[in-house]
Amino acid sequence: MRIILDIILVAGNGVCVKLPGQISQRLAASGIRLTKQREQVLGVLMQKPDHPTATEVFLRTKKHVSSISLGTVYNCLEALVATGLVKQVNLDRAPTRYCANLMEHSHFFCERCGSVHDVSITMGSGWELPPGFRVSHADVNLRGTCPKCSE
Ligand SMILES: [Zn+2]
Ligand SMILES: [Zn+2]
Repeated sequence: MRIILDIILVAGNGVCVKLPGQISQRLAASGIRLTKQREQVLGVLMQKPDHPTATEVFLRTKKHVSSISLGTVYNCLEALVATGLVKQVNLDRAPTRYCANLMEHSHFFCERCGSVHDVSITMGSGWELPPGFRVSHADVNLRGTCPKCSE
């Protein structure tokens, strides 16, 4: 199995929200209102954590809100990403996917079937950092084959 690690260490005061109870605080702090449509889009993302693309989010949201447009879904996703409630998952040569898992985690990308999985990470472990470096946020993508494709 081949695993490539793409590591991006983001310095700064990235706040990590761990509990859904903190969602409202997060929204208030960001000055973004959770409109009905944004709530729907967030609900769709939380319902099935398989990292859908914007188009997939659109198709799923459309089942609940038939009048919603792809443009609106894009706007909702953008606003949710700005609040930090939703993360963008960017993998090379693939459309952006969206993730509403607020726990600190990494993404495992299956190179055969293209599925994306959440894997938990332990902050600051496993990396040999020179003295003086402090990790505030880790964005790590793992690549390889998922259990289904490894058979
Ligand atoms: Zn995720
Ligand atoms: Zn797979």
